[in-house]
Amino acid sequence: MEKGIAAMAACYQTFDPAAYLQYNYTPPRSLASHLHLLLFCSADDVSGELLLDIGSGPTLYQVLSGCEVFNKVLMTDFLEVNRQELRRWVQDAGGCSLDWTPYLQHVCKLEGRRYTWTEKATRLRRVIVDVLPIDVHRPQPMAPDALPAAGADCLVSCFCLESVSPDLAAFTRALGHIRKLLKPDGHLMLIGALGESYYLGGPGLKIPVVPLNEAQVCASLKESGFTLIRLEVYNLMAKKTLFSLMGTQKMSRQMTFCLVFLWTMSL
Ligand code: SAM
Repeated sequence: MEKGIAAMAACYQTFDPAAYLQYNYTPPRSLASHLHLLLFCSADDVSGELLLDIGSGPTLYQVLSGCEVFNKVLMTDFLEVNRQELRRWVQDAGGCSLDWTPYLQHVCKLEGRRYTWTEKATRLRRVIVDVLPIDVHRPQPMAPDALPAAGADCLVSCFCLESVSPDLAAFTRALGHIRKLLKPDGHLMLIGALGESYYLGGPGLKIPVVPLNEAQVCASLKESGFTLIRLEVYNLMAKKTLFSLMGTQKMSRQMTFCLVFLWTMSL
């Protein structure tokens, strides 16, 4: 294994799902603002049989809207601790590190209250078909029989590739690897950070992030065979506000801008 990738894998050995959720998914950094960007917009006609979430971590927000327009959702992560966290929620077995109720309620509101949040939770539990291992640095990131031969109809990936890649070259290669999991003409919904240098993955655990700019991300996606449909770049929170809200000690993510892409594969 390449040295930089091995070093990234080593960083993740002490990743703490409960702490990660606490740092990044509770107020004031609840990131709820991402949710409106994750609504699979009918205008973009993104729907189908299988939605595959790449590097799910211990989070569910990224599939709360997609679960309404795909019949099956497959979650994935590199770490068993994260897969266990997700399975606890799916099995409704208790012991989850975060209560997703406010997220479910927020998405229902954004979607126009077509159903209640409990109905959405029930649907999500039904459509999540599995939680499987993945390694985006492998040319074949998932087990050979994990997906239908044609691939998934849509990939969603949030804050994963830049957080697991030692440099831009590895980020681009990882994009090329996950592309193989997608059907021709399928969609990729990619959310990531611009200019982020690290995030907190556990108490005192600063996980390095490759700081990317918009042009680099666009070039990597084009090089990997994707065609841009929609791009939104937005300011997560004014840096000054973020600092005063968090205090420098608690600052977990050195990022102010976030990128949201919808790409399609052009072969
Ligand atoms: N998607 C979640 C979110 O939006 O909060 C989690 C993002 S977290 C910053 C990065 C995730 O990538 C972690 O859950 C980590 O376990 C996972 N990861 C680490 N190495 C990976 C690899 N080689 N391939 C795929 N995922 C990996």
